[in-house]
Amino acid sequence: MSLSTLRTSSADDPGSSTPALSELTTLRVGGPVDDYVEAETEAELIDAVRAADDADRPLLVIGGGSNLLVADEGFAGVVVRDVRQGLDADLEDSCGTDGACGGASLRLPAGQDWDAFVAEAVANEWVGVEALSGIPGTVGAAPVQNIGAYGQEVSGVVASVVTWDRATGSRRTFPLSGLGFGYRTSLLKRTMRVDGGDGAPWYPTPRYVVLEVNLQMRLGNLSAPIGYGELARRLGVEVGERAPSAAVREAVLELRGGKGMLLDGVGGAATPDHDRWSAGSFFTNPVLPAEAADELPDDAPRFPVRSATPESTVRPSLGVVDPTLVKTSAAWLIERAGFTKGFGLAGEHSPARLSTRHTLALTNRGGATAADLVALARAVRDGVRDTFGIDLEPEPVLVGTAL
Ligand SMILES: Cc1cc2nc3c(=O)[nH]c(=O)nc-3n(C[C@H](O)[C@H](O)[C@H](O)COP(=O)(O)OP(=O)(O)OC[C@H]3O[C@@H](n4cnc5c(N)ncnc54)[C@H](O)[C@@H]3O)c2cc1C
Repeated sequence: MSLSTLRTSSADDPGSSTPALSELTTLRVGGPVDDYVEAETEAELIDAVRAADDADRPLLVIGGGSNLLVADEGFAGVVVRDVRQGLDADLEDSCGTDGACGGASLRLPAGQDWDAFVAEAVANEWVGVEALSGIPGTVGAAPVQNIGAYGQEVSGVVASVVTWDRATGSRRTFPLSGLGFGYRTSLLKRTMRVDGGDGAPWYPTPRYVVLEVNLQMRLGNLSAPIGYGELARRLGVEVGERAPSAAVREAVLELRGGKGMLLDGVGGAATPDHDRWSAGSFFTNPVLPAEAADELPDDAPRFPVRSATPESTVRPSLGVVDPTLVKTSAAWLIERAGFTKGFGLAGEHSPARLSTRHTLALTNRGGATAADLVALARAVRDGVRDTFGIDLEPEPVLVGTAL
């Protein structure tokens, strides 16, 4: 199939309207793109990726644009968006005499909306993603940074990921054991470097473009064990206990709503709600050696660091705790370094400010540029470094700009 058969638009073609990245990202900043392609089939997706790579053109495979901060200059290359939605489910709900039970084996195209899938999973009693409710974006991007929230990560349910390997020009399937999942990272994300490690630049999209994600989920109406204190308290259970998945989804959506951590327009919020014009958490929570965490003030939050996959494959369980590491809270560090909710470099009328509901979200108040957001991010990062000696790492993928 040639590129000409796809839904494409090009900045060079006066008749077509190529969207700017400000229209494709949740931060709503970012300049024009040279070419834009929407792929409706896997063949179209591969075709568009291969055509860009063969022509040595910069490539950005985009999902919901909810983890991207793109420069005002835009992207001088090809932006490809997989618009496929859907789900194939293979259910096996019988339990053998040995106590081993079946589950749901699911196959989803990369373009599938993540939260629509979570809603479907909770409704169908497929267990393991309920605490990941309300995260914007696509199924394909989920394993790239191993999305996580409220004590759950997608790595807990991934069975395998089918990719297009841009280096060899062929499909490659990674089983769970080959995906190298960690806190907000994976093997896929680690190939997304300016020098991809094999002499080729794979940035801002990984060497491996996700085509399809296969999930293996337990069946039942009780959630996976709750792994986060705030959520456990809201549900009236202890960490490690389970609760009805529907209640977990509801509680997570409420907690997220209170922090402005939902997409604008979701959950009945008034639109526009500028606290929601963000990329979610702008910095990851620092993971420190246990001795370094001892140096933090007594009231600094300290969370256990658990393995990305559950401890047991035969019963519901949390990940294994690594006693040598401690995760602290980037939001707490930011606040203690003097950047309170709503902070802006030029005061309350700044176009880019911290969310008024969560210090970890950098937000566009309506007229911000990418440069405004980068300036704010630098100030916050430098302030935390000066106060605590800790370097905050940005979570979104920065395109055409850097901190
Ligand atoms: C309000 C809000 C709340 C958020 N809360 C959370 C949270 O709780 N936890 C969390 O982990 N994240 C959170 N995020 C961040 C974001 O939603 C996730 O990282 C999400 O998985 C990004 O998906 P996307 O489709 O929007 O990816 P995009 O932003 O479009 O892309 C991000 C990166 O993934 C790459 N990518 C996209 N699709 C593919 C593909 N098919 N193959 C290979 N690479 C691909 C892109 O090239 C890019 O490098 C939040 C964001 C917002 C705006």
